Amino acid sequence: MSHCIFCQSASGQALASFVYEDDVVVAFMDINQPNPHKVLVIPREHRETIYDLDDDLAAVIFQATVKIARAIRAASGCDGLNIIQSNGEAGQQDVFHFHLHLLPRYHNDEIVLDWDFARSGRDVLDRFAADIRAHMQ
Ligand SMILES: [Zn+2]
Repeated sequence: MSHCIFCQSASGQALASFVYEDDVVVAFMDINQPNPHKVLVIPREHRETIYDLDDDLAAVIFQATVKIARAIRAASGCDGLNIIQSNGEAGQQDVFHFHLHLLPRYHNDEIVLDWDFARSGRDVLDRFAADIRAHMQ
């Protein structure tokens, strides 16, 4: 088994609520992260940082990210979405597998997400993930 928790998630070995999967990209919410309502987008293959993506992989990841962003908006009603990327130790990461955080935030200039996912638990994540999947085109 891989020591990388995101490689484990991508292969279904770690607990995660999946919002999107294809041959190259996986997107999920993970209850063990500090902000479990974030959607994480990762390549299936282990790449440590953004600098380790070749052009084709970068394009595929970003196309999937846009698709997921649209589905999050359709599912949650939020217009604003922060996309965050941090690199390795310099970005205070403790998982060294490239990932984008998608953080749904605003609707009409108001923060819409007041769901307390941290306390709501896994069933809430699974429900939201299913809702996002249902809005995927
Ligand atoms: Zn990995």
